[in-house]
Amino acid sequence: MHVWQRLVVLVWQLRTPHRRDGDGRDLAHLELGACPTFAARPRRVQLNNYWMVVGYWGEATATTDFCEPNYAVSHYVAEFFNALSSIPLVVVGICGVVHSRRLKLGVEQAACYAVVALVGVGSVSFHATLLRTGQVLDELPMLWIILLFIFALLRADDYRKRLPGGSVATPLLLTVAIGSSMVYFCFGFEMFICSYAGSIVALVALALRKAFFGQAPCDGQTQRMFLLAAAWYLGGVLLLWLPGELLCRRLPWMQRLPMHALFHLTSTAGPHFLLTATALTKFEAQKPKVIPTTLFGGLSAITIDKSG
Ligand SMILES: [Zn+2]
Repeated sequence: MHVWQRLVVLVWQLRTPHRRDGDGRDLAHLELGACPTFAARPRRVQLNNYWMVVGYWGEATATTDFCEPNYAVSHYVAEFFNALSSIPLVVVGICGVVHSRRLKLGVEQAACYAVVALVGVGSVSFHATLLRTGQVLDELPMLWIILLFIFALLRADDYRKRLPGGSVATPLLLTVAIGSSMVYFCFGFEMFICSYAGSIVALVALALRKAFFGQAPCDGQTQRMFLLAAAWYLGGVLLLWLPGELLCRRLPWMQRLPMHALFHLTSTAGPHFLLTATALTKFEAQKPKVIPTTLFGGLSAITIDKSG
């Protein structure tokens, strides 16, 4: 295990230890469900001396449970706000595919946005049902998308330097994608966090190195967009996801804060800014601009003046 993996595991272990039942299910489902304040329409099932709030989708089979009381708002949606806040991922993903095709930004850009939409669909499924199938649909595309972003970044850099591109990176990234998927199924959520955190660090390091320290650094506009992407990505993980997970069960009032739901919003903006920065790099010679667009709900997106 690498040093960074050990660090992530150490931080992960700072969480209140999760009790698991014989099938490996996180008993946090039961602890949160036991709080009468949140049991809006309780149909409660007793399991291993705990009470689980059970809604339309039945007993939770996912191996983790995020910081929102289950079935507190609707009988049909397990984590209402976490599911609702995943919808922008689907919308931005679909709009991104349309935008990439309209501006001919490249297949890799459209593919990245398509996987953003897929992550959104998986995230809605997971948070709405807390079923293991939804969890897999949410987490596996999250592993793949980071590798796809790295691929798009390398392709953009090659295009900009008029190099053929894709020689070593494609099989390498494919191998990492297959390897991390196998690790995910063999070792579960903790190793998923390690793989995901490692991939994000690699992505941010690569993006910043290409933008600022390469042989031909990007222009100011592209550098600002890369910094914006890094800030949204890392800010979301460090200020929302991590505190939400570390403190949720230690400080019960945190269950009322929509930390994970807000993390979904930063996870929507981060990839969009990263893909915009990547497209700016690729089409640098055509002097592209970024302007706020209604297609992305007011977020800035790339525009290229074809008349020039
Ligand atoms: Zn989520």
